[in-house]
Amino acid sequence: MKRQIKEEIAAIGRRLYEHDLNGSYGGNFSVRDEEFIYITPSGVPKDELNFSDILVIDFSGNVIEGEGKPSSETLFHIKIYKVRPDVNAIIHAHPPFGTGFAIAHQGIPNNVHEESALILGEVPVIPYEITSSKELAENIGKAIIDHNALLLANHGALTVGDTLEKAFRRMEELENVCKMLTVASLLGGAKPLPHDKFESLLELKKKRGL
Ligand code: 13P
Ligand code: ZN
Repeated sequence: MKRQIKEEIAAIGRRLYEHDLNGSYGGNFSVRDEEFIYITPSGVPKDELNFSDILVIDFSGNVIEGEGKPSSETLFHIKIYKVRPDVNAIIHAHPPFGTGFAIAHQGIPNNVHEESALILGEVPVIPYEITSSKELAENIGKAIIDHNALLLANHGALTVGDTLEKAFRRMEELENVCKMLTVASLLGGAKPLPHDKFESLLELKKKRGL
C-alpha cells in the first residue's frame, strides 16, 4: 500500500492539532485510493500519528493492512465515499468554535462572508446520533450529498474534498467563519451580503470551479 498517502494522513493530524482545529484524541481522517480507504486508527492521539499507524480497509470495512482497530467512525467514512464519487478525502475534527456552533445547533449560513461562501457554502447541523452509530452514518450520508462541510450536533465538524488538502482548507475556513460569527454576535449579529451581489458571488464560485 502507498506510504505517501499514510504520511499525508499522519501529517494532517499534527497540522489540525497545531492550528487548534482538533484535540488529540478526537477526530478521524481518511483518503480514498481506488478500491481502498486509508484511515486513522481508533482511540489514539491524532497529533502523534506515524505513517505506520494508518490502516487500509476495503469498502466493507475489512482491514487489508495495518495493526489495531480502524476509526470507530469507519461507517460514515465508507458511506460518504459511496454517495460522493467526487470526494477522495474526509476530515472529521472537534474544532472549538465549530463544535461550539454544533453544540448550540447553529448552522453556518452561506451568505455572510465571501471566502466562506466560496470555499464552504452553507454548513447545516445534522441531528444528533451517538458516535459511531449506523444512524449517524445515515444522517451524514444524506446531508453530505449537497454539502462539503457539516456540523454534527453536540459532537464536531466534518469536511470533504477531492484532496486531503482541500478538506483541510475547508476545516480551517469552517473554524475561521465560526470565530468571525462569534465576534459578529457580540456586535449585534451578522448582516447578510446584499442579495444581488450574493448571486454574482455564486456565479464567480461556479466559474472558479470551487
Ligand atoms: P476514533 O478515535 O475512533 O476515530 O474516534 C474519534 C472521534 O472523534 C469519534 O467521533
Ligand atoms: Zn468525533
